[in-house]
Amino acid sequence: MSSLRNVVKHPILSLVDSTTTLKELKQIHTQFLINGNLNEPQLVGQFIACIALNNPNNLHYSNQVLDRSDNPTLFALNSMIRAHCKSSNPQNSFHFYDKILHSKNNLSPDNYTFNFLVRTCAQLLACDTGKLVHGAVIKRGFEHDPHVQSGLIFMYAELGHLVSCHKVFESIKEPDLVCQTAMVSACAKCGEIDFAAKMFDEMSQRDPIAWNAMISGYAQCGKPKEALSLFHLMQSEGVKVNDVSMVSVLSACTHLGALDQGRWAHAYIERNRIKMTVTLGTALVDMYAKCGDMNKAMEVFWGLKDKNVYTWSSAMNGLAMNGAGVDCLKLFSLMKQDEVVPNGITFISILRACSVVGLVEEGCQHFDSMRRVYGIEPQLEHYGIMVDLYGRAGQLEGAIDFIHSMPIKPHAGAWGALLNACRMYKNMDLGELASRKIVELEAKNHGAYVLLSNIYADSKNWDDVTNVREAMKAQGVRKPPGCSVIEVNGEVHEFFVGDKCHPRYGEIETMWGEISKRLKLSGYVANTNPVLFDIEEEEKEDALCKHSEKIAIAFGLISLKEGVPIRIVKNLRVCWDCHEVTVMISKIFNREIIVRDRNRFHHFRNGECSCKGYW
Ligand code: ZN
Ligand code: ZN
Repeated sequence: MSSLRNVVKHPILSLVDSTTTLKELKQIHTQFLINGNLNEPQLVGQFIACIALNNPNNLHYSNQVLDRSDNPTLFALNSMIRAHCKSSNPQNSFHFYDKILHSKNNLSPDNYTFNFLVRTCAQLLACDTGKLVHGAVIKRGFEHDPHVQSGLIFMYAELGHLVSCHKVFESIKEPDLVCQTAMVSACAKCGEIDFAAKMFDEMSQRDPIAWNAMISGYAQCGKPKEALSLFHLMQSEGVKVNDVSMVSVLSACTHLGALDQGRWAHAYIERNRIKMTVTLGTALVDMYAKCGDMNKAMEVFWGLKDKNVYTWSSAMNGLAMNGAGVDCLKLFSLMKQDEVVPNGITFISILRACSVVGLVEEGCQHFDSMRRVYGIEPQLEHYGIMVDLYGRAGQLEGAIDFIHSMPIKPHAGAWGALLNACRMYKNMDLGELASRKIVELEAKNHGAYVLLSNIYADSKNWDDVTNVREAMKAQGVRKPPGCSVIEVNGEVHEFFVGDKCHPRYGEIETMWGEISKRLKLSGYVANTNPVLFDIEEEEKEDALCKHSEKIAIAFGLISLKEGVPIRIVKNLRVCWDCHEVTVMISKIFNREIIVRDRNRFHHFRNGECSCKGYW
């Protein structure tokens, strides 16, 4: 008989819930004493379990009751293990396991004991102990119990031991829904998304947990399109959608820059009255901000009842990335007025905002306050932005001094920020130093190689150009393929560099002919010579007009209604030529174009870009 599902409760015990105070518990205890109930092990067991499971704040009190009880029941002890597994001190579970093994009334652990013990090991990430418990499971003959099996799968997934996970799963003759669901979330969690998908497809029945695990697995492993299509399938099968699934759906939209689908998801949340948790609200703000609709992001932000530091940080990050540095700093003041304590993520936005606006001194003060006021140790990313802050303001000496003063070894990101500044301010010596440092740190950093080779080419130092090119080949440095994503009528289209696969490619090419003609009339000349400090991240030889964002823009012009902004998400940094061309297209075609590249947003409007040429 199961040790947790027994028993008709004493009526008074049904009153115990999470709001029951310690004083009330003591009153119940006293009443049991007066009535002589304390000699009944079953009742005492129920009392202990009742406190442990329903009233976790007073877990210590159930401990006291247990200590005074001569023969605690297995039910009581299992309840204690279960309650401690979820507490802030999961290791205490083992104390009660020990009590079972050494009980005077010869108790022995059952399937519930082991189900909770393996979950404790997962909580503690205790690998060796986990294996010992698994050994005890086999020794005591519980390895075929479905609850223990799902617990083991969960444990090995948390520990990252996928092979053991598979072994447990394969040992199950007829895996039930619980085990299948546990396995889908375990593979999805360990990044074995294809295996998880196969498992998921084979499940005859799927509960919402399995759907959520699969959707969030796709969203997290960089397959947002799959996440969205699975979500649509989930709906068509009439599975109830909750706030957890919607967070994954929004994160997929954010990743793709799919604003239409993001808007649709927002409407869906409102229509179905899905509970607006802080996490869901934050995901919404983040989605609008990263899809480039900052007005809507702020509207949602102000409408949220509950905001935590992540919500504030998402809004601030959006403002900073979209170039609205001053607004970001204003929001920070309001956040402090609201007594929300900033964290490391908040400071990334603050420093970025100072950098965008050119507030070197204020940026330095904020940076200094991180450690001094908030006890936050700056991380590499903070240092990188500080270099950018100096560099962007043209203070290259300040930037290099800052790099030299770093208490940790400067990373490629810090040197990269300096390199970018050198490119902007045409400082060749420092630029060469920076690119050498980057190549030292990251032998495969293609951007730095290209820059270095450009620097030598410019000074007609052809031997060194050859050397750099050869070093690149020897190191196997390859440029990642450029990819731009555009959403049209809720459908996401992906274009790669030189891509001719799109069904409407003929029309795209005609459109591009038209664009080229009008660009030339406006005085545009393609610059095929590497500019002094140009860092091209995409191949150049195959004509500049084949860069993926140009194909995406041409597609946007033929497929979106007039006046609808063209929104593009690009995986690499935008090159000089594409930037220049997009600036001109925004004016010639009178079209707003918003490009999110690897680092920031470019809002092109009427012949100007929000980045003001610095990116
Ligand atoms: Zn380009
Ligand atoms: Zn720009």
